[in-house]
Amino acid sequence: MTTRDIFIGGQWRQGGGALMQSHFPADGSLNATLHAASLEDLEQAVAAGDRAWRDPAWRDTLPHQRAAILHRVADLINARIETLAEMQSRDNGKPLAEARGLVASAASTARYFAAACELLEGELPTPRIPQVITLSGYEPLGVVAAITPWNSPIASEMQKIAPAIAAGNAAILKPAEATPLMALELAKLFEEAGLPAGLLSVLPGKGSVIGDALARHPKVRKISFTGGTSTGRHLAHVAAEKLIPASLELGGKSPTIVLEDANLEQAARGICYGIFSSAGQACIAGSRLFVHQSVYAPLMARLLELTRGLRVGHPFDAATHVGPLINEGHRQRVMEYVALAQREGGRVLCGGEIPPDPALADGSYFQPTIIDGLSNGARACQEEIFGPVLVAMPFEDEAGLIAQANDSVFGLAAGIWSRDSGRALRLASRLEVGTVWINTYKVFSISTPFGGFKESGLGREKGIQGLKAWMQQKSVYLATGSDVNHWSDNKKGVQ
Ligand code: NAD
Repeated sequence: MTTRDIFIGGQWRQGGGALMQSHFPADGSLNATLHAASLEDLEQAVAAGDRAWRDPAWRDTLPHQRAAILHRVADLINARIETLAEMQSRDNGKPLAEARGLVASAASTARYFAAACELLEGELPTPRIPQVITLSGYEPLGVVAAITPWNSPIASEMQKIAPAIAAGNAAILKPAEATPLMALELAKLFEEAGLPAGLLSVLPGKGSVIGDALARHPKVRKISFTGGTSTGRHLAHVAAEKLIPASLELGGKSPTIVLEDANLEQAARGICYGIFSSAGQACIAGSRLFVHQSVYAPLMARLLELTRGLRVGHPFDAATHVGPLINEGHRQRVMEYVALAQREGGRVLCGGEIPPDPALADGSYFQPTIIDGLSNGARACQEEIFGPVLVAMPFEDEAGLIAQANDSVFGLAAGIWSRDSGRALRLASRLEVGTVWINTYKVFSISTPFGGFKESGLGREKGIQGLKAWMQQKSVYLATGSDVNHWSDNKKGVQ
């Protein structure tokens, strides 16, 4: 057990705020203690960031020089995959194999934004004025805020910090209360890779205190947030007051749809992964299942067989499919949703309980759970449970299916399983969601924009847009001739 310093304006030191702890969700043991950032620490981080991004030593760096820092970060990550994956698992309980994948993806994200910033080009719009050319280029925003949740820290944090830095900003990262360790480790990597002091600060602490103050700080010029919808709505108000951009990656209740011509084995396996990997603690978890009534029985039989075969276990056990939930409070919330679903008339087909294995007694584990017998209007089908709980419903026809799939305040993602890709594409175009997977689920590409429709968010991360979202466009008019403007001449009819 160690007490960790936090990273403020290029300095490692004890935070001035309250004591906080990181626990291993597998057994509740203490990973580390640290002091949260205080409001004074926030002031210092913002002041250092504001100096650092304006400093000509950084402001005038060329894209390939910023890219080189990101490539070094990626190299450092790749050299330390095991250590970082273990830290990620300890911080939030993800099985080690999953954590390794996330760590590797963080390295790829750094490389992608390194390449994107080198390739980013301004525009030379075709002139509409004689003897004037116009140029439009991209510039950094200044000091920017990144506020992240606990479910996949290294991935969501790199997805914000890499483009923010590639774009030339100074970033201040506020990780979730439960998972401060990975953000601090990322700061170490950026420091080791040569990022000048002040361009990255990491301020752990309570969202309602340090996160809120960060978002409200007058010098903060963008809020990039991933987390729950109610926090996102609050931050959108803060951004609106300040007239600054907000990028919001929020919750979901994503439908997965099995059409009558689907490859049922492929579908059952994909659905199982889509809801139960990360113990269902994923914004994109495919948590509402719609199956054509003609294949409902065989699909459900196979899905139940696969689900009952999943091993709930310690994150460091290579055989584990489903690790613990983030903490006991969250497990209670998930269990309350299962009880609610039962009160609403749902039948628990598998799971629904704390695993009986005494070896798991100290962790916040919960069995993968499938419920049917509910209609889409039930609260268990409308609210984000953020745990290993799937609700399954048969459907009769496509029109009814689309109406039900879209009957949600959320619009993050959807899955479609069908052998007819034309039909699947037509269906995809009718779904009110930001990402549709067809015959696959929960696979990601950093070059493909990601974000939500409706209450699942605003703005897009990833892709070239994911870099431009951290910049502002400046246009320049340049006269190429020596024409003089005669407007101020004291003559009638001039101009
Ligand atoms: P949360 O909204 O409670 O917290 C997210 C972050 O916001 C944390 O760092 C928290 O400290 C901070 N925060 C809380 N209140 C704040 C305030 N008033 N001002 C500023 N910051 C504040 O979410 P969570 O419980 O950590 O994460 C789970 C949620 O995140 C789920 O709803 C999930 O769907 C969502 N999520 C979305 C995506 C996506 O990409 N769409 C990805 C992962 C998680």
